[in-house]
Parts: sequence; structure tokens; C-alpha cells
Amino acid sequence: MTRLPTVWVFGDQLNRNIGALRGREPGDCRVLLIESELKIASKRWHRQRLHLVLSAMRHFAAELEAEGFDVDHRRAPSFVQGYTEHCAAFDVERLIVMEPMSWDVAALLGRLPGDVDVETLRNDQFFCHYDEFATWASDRKSFKMEDFYRWQRTRHGVLMDGPEPAGGKWNYDHDNRERPPKDGRAWPPITSFELDDIDTEVIAMIDALDGGVWGSGPDGTWPVTRDQALTRLDEFVATGLEPFGPHEDAMLGEEWKLAHSVLSSCMNLGLLHATEVVEAAEVAYRERDLPLNSVEGFIRQVLGWREYVWCVFWRWMPDYRSRNHLGATRQVPPAFTGEASTEMNCVSNAVQHLDDHGYTHHIERLMVFGNLALTSGVDPWAMTEWMWASFVDGAEWVMLPNVIGMALHADGGMMATKPYASGGAYINKMSDSCKGCRFDPKKRTGDDACPFTTLYWDFLARNADQFSNNHRMGQQLAGMRRLSDLDAVRDRAAEVLDALDAGTL
Ligand code: SF4
Repeated sequence: MTRLPTVWVFGDQLNRNIGALRGREPGDCRVLLIESELKIASKRWHRQRLHLVLSAMRHFAAELEAEGFDVDHRRAPSFVQGYTEHCAAFDVERLIVMEPMSWDVAALLGRLPGDVDVETLRNDQFFCHYDEFATWASDRKSFKMEDFYRWQRTRHGVLMDGPEPAGGKWNYDHDNRERPPKDGRAWPPITSFELDDIDTEVIAMIDALDGGVWGSGPDGTWPVTRDQALTRLDEFVATGLEPFGPHEDAMLGEEWKLAHSVLSSCMNLGLLHATEVVEAAEVAYRERDLPLNSVEGFIRQVLGWREYVWCVFWRWMPDYRSRNHLGATRQVPPAFTGEASTEMNCVSNAVQHLDDHGYTHHIERLMVFGNLALTSGVDPWAMTEWMWASFVDGAEWVMLPNVIGMALHADGGMMATKPYASGGAYINKMSDSCKGCRFDPKKRTGDDACPFTTLYWDFLARNADQFSNNHRMGQQLAGMRRLSDLDAVRDRAAEVLDALDAGTL
């Protein structure tokens, strides 16, 4: 048997042109992919999430084999055991990997058994490596996303006209906060990819798991190969990018994605590279004169927010995952997990989207799930794990900063200077859920009071001491103290929290 170096490709690095596979030819290495049973059993995965990762890995292995690579794609009780079995089977002397996306896999590489020579290549899945971010951040008192984003735009020459931002402004957010349209328009269609034999195998495997999964099964929504991912990118740029901006924050019960790109899972698995996504958007802007607010808003999500989240994750780990600044201890409500139904229309709609697709867009994540979890006091790590397991684009590096930092303020303001707490008014403005809901977004007491509104005021009262030195919270705290019925609000909040825990809200 030929003694080849092993290239170990993790399930979120599925790209022939990055990291340890870039420049490799069949015959000069053996490729290892491992499906860990321990990992599969570690969470209550959404069916589409679990299927997506396993199917994409199996498709990638098949593509490499078709190209002529020697591929060892194995199922094993754990990553370590799979690796150990692979080393024994092929008498491995040298292992080549790209820096993992996950903290735990990075830690695992540091304690692999045996005396194999391990070469770790720099992760090149992003515009910005976290080492570059650390250098950029080193002489700053704070490192805000906006500053990082402008630095990224400038140094990579993205949406720039010489030294100036295209159109003269860095940020067109104020054009992107329109309420949901009432014209019943059709939103950009996306291809549904045909499920093949590999998908069928994975679905059968998931069906055979002894519980531990939830949500609707795969229906071809999510690209599992690079070709499919490129199709999704092409169709977004062709039909989705133009209408994306104005309604990017709007929520509609009957429409799960509006004009969102739904490209995040492709990028997070490695099927698409962030650079090609951003480049495609900018080319469309230059060649087709697309509205700048849509193009800038989309590029901000990829070049700004996504990269920022990736970099702060590596800067703040491992302590970051145990942050719980507000001492929140509640478990994830059964109304979120599909274990109980709810009369809160906004939550019910978001859960339906999640159940159907393993996906909701960013405002449903932040202002419905995140907002209710924040104001009710859900444990940050429990919420992180739930979102990580439930969304097709979930990963530890994605969910930790988004949940602990952005949604739950569990980092005490490292990421967002004030908590994203709001009552029912915001949801009433930005969605069509309140119309027809049995609760009233304007009411804070009584049986028909909106739970979001009641819990918003209770949250402020509960955490008033924590926020007393935060000048950005001054107005909200003053508003809470002016409430003549605060005692009644807090009594109603206690009832709401009990019902939330019991799954009867
Ligand atoms: Fe959600 Fe409250 Fe509106 Fe009902 S009234 S949809 S619970 S925000």
C-alpha cells in the first residue's frame, strides 16, 4: 500500500480550492473524512441540519473519488477513534490539515494520539484571518463592527471608488428598514435540488437514529454540492439581490426567506468562498447598476458581520462560551423547540419557518427568538446549543457571538453596547404577525397582554442594577420607573414565565 500523507478535511471545509486540498493532485495524498457518532449524538439536531452536513460530506468524498483521489470516508464512534483507525489502516506518517473552524476540533488536533507529523495550514476560508484581526484590534480601545467593516472594505477594495466608499457613504441601513409590504408580491424563487441516492442513504440513517432529531425532513432546499451552491449564488445575484435591501428586516408569516440570499449554509460548509460571493454581488452592482442599499447591505452581512463574528470568536474563546453576565438560567422554551405549540403568532410563525427549513432570517433570530430568550432569561449556553443544532447554517463560531454577544447580552457588552430587548411594538411594526394574534402588542397587563411587552418591562426591572451604569439604557430605565402599573406588570410577567416554561403560552 502506498504511504501517502493524509489530508484530513473537516465537514465545514468542503472545498477543493482551499486549505490543505488547494493545489493537491490525485496520487499525492489520501483524503480523510470522518463522521463521528459522538458528534451526531451530541445534540438534538434539526433533520435538515444533520442531513446537510452528512450529505455534503458524502457528496464531496464522491467528487474527490471521481477526480481520482484516494478517499477514506469513514464512520467512527468519535473523531479520535476514526483518526486512530485510519492511521492504523494506512500506516500514516504525516497529516495535513487546515486550521479548523471549531474550537473543540482545534483542541483535539493538539492532543491526537500517536507520533504522526501534523502540519496545520492557515485557514483561508475568510477574507480576514483572526491573526490579522488581532493585529488590527491590538491598538484599539474598542473594535466595533462598523470600524472593522470599513477597514475590510478599504483594504480589499470592495465597493470602493478610489479611496471613497461607493456612493459616498459606508452604510445604507436606513434605506433597509421598510415594513413588510402588503402587496402580496412574489419573492425571488430558489431552485429545489433533486435528492439523490446519497441523500436517500443519509435520510434513512437519520430516520434510524433513536430519537434525538426534530424538524421536517430534507426537501432539496439546501445545496449539498459546490455546483448546487453556485446555482444558488447565481440565482440570488440574478433575482434576489436587487429586492434584498429594503425589506431585509421585515417578517412575514407566510414567507420564510423573502429576498434573503439563503447562502449562509453554503459558505459555512465551505461550498462557497466568501470572496466569490462578495465579488459576484459587486460585479452585479457595477454591471447592472443595482440599488446600492441592497448591494451594500448584503456585502455588509458577508464582509462585515460574518467575518467579524468569526474573528471575535477566536479572540474571546474559550472563556467566551461560559459568559452569563445577566445570570440567566431558564431552559429554552418548549415553544421554540417544537415540543409545545404557542398562541404567540410571531413565535409560532418563526418556529414554523424553522421546522420547515431549518432556517429563519436574521430578524426572526434576533428579535423573536433572541428577544424572548433575553427578556425571559434563557441560559446563554442552552440557547447557543439549541440554535447551533437547529439552523442549517449553525456552528459554534457562528452561534456563540450571535447568541451570547448579540442576542442575550451575556458578555456584558463586549459585542453590543446595549441589549437588544424590545416589546411587541417592534414586532408589530416589522411583521404581519400581531394582526390576528390573541395577544395585544400594546398591552402589558391582563390575560391578552403581549408576552414580549410584559417581559420587556419586567426584564428592565429585573436587571435595573446591572444597567444602571449604561448610559445607553438610561431612557429605557426611566420609562420603566415611570410605569404606574409596574407591580401589576411584574405579577403578569411571573405568570407569563411560568406558562413559557410549561409550554402553555
Ligand atoms: Fe408576538 Fe405579541 Fe405580536 Fe402576538 S402580539 S405576534 S406575541 S409580538
